[in-house]
Amino acid sequence: MSVDMNSQGSDSNEEDYDPNCEEEEEDEDPGDIEDYYIGVANDVEQQGADAFDPEEYQFTCLTYKESESTLNEHMVSLASTLKVSHAVAKLVLVSFHWQVSEILERHKSNSAQLLVEARVQPTSSKHTMVHSSHHCAVCMQFVRKENLLSLACQHQFCRSCWEQHCTVLVKDGVGVGISCMAQDCPLRTPEDFVFPLLPSEELKDKYRRYLFRDYVE
Ligand SMILES: [Zn+2]
Ligand SMILES: [Zn+2]
Repeated sequence: MSVDMNSQGSDSNEEDYDPNCEEEEEDEDPGDIEDYYIGVANDVEQQGADAFDPEEYQFTCLTYKESESTLNEHMVSLASTLKVSHAVAKLVLVSFHWQVSEILERHKSNSAQLLVEARVQPTSSKHTMVHSSHHCAVCMQFVRKENLLSLACQHQFCRSCWEQHCTVLVKDGVGVGISCMAQDCPLRTPEDFVFPLLPSEELKDKYRRYLFRDYVE
């Protein structure tokens, strides 16, 4: 359960993000991705359009903005169907690889089981007992009740341990895969749980980028 603080120094995965694009300085701006594809489109046209070109397929890729709005539509409608938050609906969609019709079928036949399989609800009620002690199982400190945070599994940990956990994982390039700190607990942290725990805008940007990568994968 110890958190590996050594990995805080390994910031290198940011540099690996786009090694081929030296002229692209501001990779934070999604608009650059569109500019990039426009540039590619011009290059290809100059090669002559009559030959079959497998590279054409990349033009069917959604732009960042198009795919983001498609994802959001699915997320909003699923959230209202399942009566869960938008962030939880996103985790469900990712878990089922955006197979919306499959998700809705499972919801009809067994909604509780769907949320368990998506790792947003615990398997059985024995996990949901409320702990009476205000004690963080990671740092072993007794803390005020309001500083204890938990997911739906009710595994409570102090805010600063959650902050460290999320910070280390985001620095390591983890997005959707951040989960509960309790041993063997499969629950994933919805993004609206993680964002307030990240201490800097830079980390929030990274997390946003890793989430998007995981959503479209
Ligand atoms: Zn703690
Ligand atoms: Zn848990």
